[in-house]
Order: sequence, then C-alpha cells, then structure tokens
Amino acid sequence: MSKGKKRPETEMIHSGYNSAEHLGSLTPPIYQTSTFTFSNAEQGAERFAGEEEGYIYSRLGNPTVRILEDRITALENGEGALAFGSGMAAVSAVLFHLIQSGDHILCSRGVYGCTFGLLEMLEEKFQVEHDFIKMSEEEHIRNSIKENTACIYIETPINPTMELVDLKMVCRIANELNIPVAVDNTFCSPYLQQPLQYGANYVVHSATKYIGGHGDVVGGLLIGDSLEQINAIRMTTQKDIGGIMSPFDAWLLLRGLKTLAVRMDRHCENAEKIARYLTGQDKVKTVYYPGNQSHPQYPIAKAQMTNYGGLISFQIEGTIETARHFMNELSMVKIAVSLGDAETLIQHPASMTHSIVPLESREKMGVNDTLLRLSVGLEAWEDICEDLEQAFQKLNHIALPAT
Ligand SMILES: *Cc1c(COP(=O)(O)O)cnc(C)c1O
Repeated sequence: MSKGKKRPETEMIHSGYNSAEHLGSLTPPIYQTSTFTFSNAEQGAERFAGEEEGYIYSRLGNPTVRILEDRITALENGEGALAFGSGMAAVSAVLFHLIQSGDHILCSRGVYGCTFGLLEMLEEKFQVEHDFIKMSEEEHIRNSIKENTACIYIETPINPTMELVDLKMVCRIANELNIPVAVDNTFCSPYLQQPLQYGANYVVHSATKYIGGHGDVVGGLLIGDSLEQINAIRMTTQKDIGGIMSPFDAWLLLRGLKTLAVRMDRHCENAEKIARYLTGQDKVKTVYYPGNQSHPQYPIAKAQMTNYGGLISFQIEGTIETARHFMNELSMVKIAVSLGDAETLIQHPASMTHSIVPLESREKMGVNDTLLRLSVGLEAWEDICEDLEQAFQKLNHIALPAT
C-alpha cells in the first residue's frame, strides 16, 4: 500500500472528499449548477487558457462529479477518471479517443450487446473493423493483431457466458506492442478486479450496475492509467460529444459506493450458494459461474479476481419455451435486464440483452436459446433458492414437446 492510501473498503467511503472544504458537510453536497461565475474578466480568460484551476461550466467539470471521479480513480488505482451519463457513453468515449477511420479493434469473444452495436456502427460509418477472438492462446492473440490494430477491448467475465480473459497475459502482449487495452470491468466492480494493475490502460464501468447498486441511476465511468490521456478525453471527446453525468447522479453513485464492499461480499456469498444449488438441479444443463472449480478458467478467476461476483448464467434443459415458462413462474425473482441491484434479476440474453447480435455471432459467443442470466441480489439466499425451486417444480407439469 502506498503512503496515505487506505484499504479499498475505506477508500470507497472517504477518498476524494474533504468535508472541511464544504462547510463541514459530512456527505458531499450536490452542486446543482450549470455554470460557475468568475470574479472578473481576467479570471475567466485564465480559466479558459488553463492557467488557473477552477470550474467553468458543468459539461467541463462539476465539483460533485469530480469527487466521484477522484474516488473511482483511487479505487481502480488509476491516475484520473471521467464520469458519463451512461456506461455506453464511457465505452464510446474511450473508443472514439483511441481510433481513427480505417483502424482495427481486437475484442474478446463476446461483449455487452450495445457495445456490439457500437462496433457495428463504427464499421459502417467510419470503416473501423473489429474481430472477436477467444483470447486464450498467446499465439492466436499475436496472430490476430494487425498493423492497424488501435486498441484491444476486453470484457472479463464476458457477458453473459462468464468466459474469462487472462488480463496479465493479454496486457503483456499489448504493452509490448504499444497497443492500448481497455477493459469493461462492470461485472466485477473495482472491489473484485483492478485491470490497471495488470497493465490495462483504461477501465470502463457501467456504474448503473454494482457501483450504483440500487437500480435508481444510469451512469458510466472511465478510468485511465495516464492523467494526460484522461484530460485529453475530458477536453475533446467528452467536451464535444457531451455525454456527461449530472451532479445528482454523481451524488447517488457516491452514496452507492459507500456500501460497495459490503454489498459485493453478500452478492458473492449468495451467488456461491445459488450456483451450488443450480449445479445440483437436474433441470439445469450447464452452470456458468467463475467460482465453480469446473469452470474451464477457474485458475484465471483465482488469479485476477478477489471473489467470483454475483452473476450466474445457466442453461435450462428443454427449449426456449421451457426457459420462458421458468421465468414466468418466478415470483420474487424479477424478470429484468440490468444487474448488480439488491433485487435478484433474471433475463433471457438471446431475446433481450443480446437480441441485436445476429444469430450466428450469438451462437459463436455461446448465447443460445436456453441460456438464462441471473443477477443474484442481496435477499436471503434461501428465499432466492426457494423461488427458483418452486419454478423448476412447475416445469414438471408441462408436457414436453413430442420429439
Ligand atoms: C450495462 C452494461 C454496459 C452499458 O452500460 P449503461 O450504463 O447501460 O449504458 C456496458 N457493459 C456492461 C458489461 C454492462 O453490463
């Protein structure tokens, strides 16, 4: 631990904020203002010239938002961060920053549905090509890097198949070739995994998920290992495209962050129990959960994650109808996309989050019709299990289609 730096549980509560600078307010105030007044014309000119520190206009920076940016910087061990109006605004900002027309992006096999949509748009409008590869073999990664590869974009665990990418290995190759690496760390939150420590250059979060944790805000965060690069994105991509976060949303996320560690501990604990239950349930064909010792990349999970997270995907025995019937029989568990909330949520990727991904690519990602994704919440794990169990029981009462 470097001097002055505290443990993550403490940083989540204190980092980036000094109450003495805010009239002693224990909780960071919401600076609900669009603009900031200058004492005189010279000061305005100096701020614009970057000769004097200070706020100008909330699209270029806001004190409440800045506290959140400083706090997430500490948690991801970065040099700087930017807050955005959504996770996708953060993803698009880092990609727009790194690429030019004609470049190539190398991606992990499987990304968030809208990230897939963005990559398609970049290809159509700006001729930026991309490839999805299984990033498990060093040689395969090296062979897939092209002359015009401008960025390596990784999700781990991959949504929704929970496949993992060895961050240390990929970053070593990329660093050697000077190719920036961006990692979507939404599924882990900074509490379970810190990609910059393995050599990644950027981390993005959909703060909508675990960081907010209460299903009441949409937001995104981008953390970088270089303050210079982050400032460049602040004053170009973010300033001009404009996908900023509101002060109130930053305040909600600061509130969410305070309990991130205790929530994540409980999410992980519950998920471990539910994964064990699902593994023993005979109507479940396969369970995808990085904490299962049978997970093909269990050693990678052990090496780069401090715990296994709150997400489990599983394939149900039967057809898409069985999957739908099962979801409809649940009573406490809610059918909804998003994840990381206090409530346990279930969704059907093939017809929901990944429905925009063409069938062929979807199947390559391992997203088939009987796959369900569960975001294990904070309820008593026994109640989650009982709800799942009663829904599985109901499946006994439907006649299986004749084969
Ligand atoms: C939700 C999500 C996003 C997009 O975030 P929004 O806040 O919905 O824009 C990106 N990546 C992952 C892994 C996500 O789960």
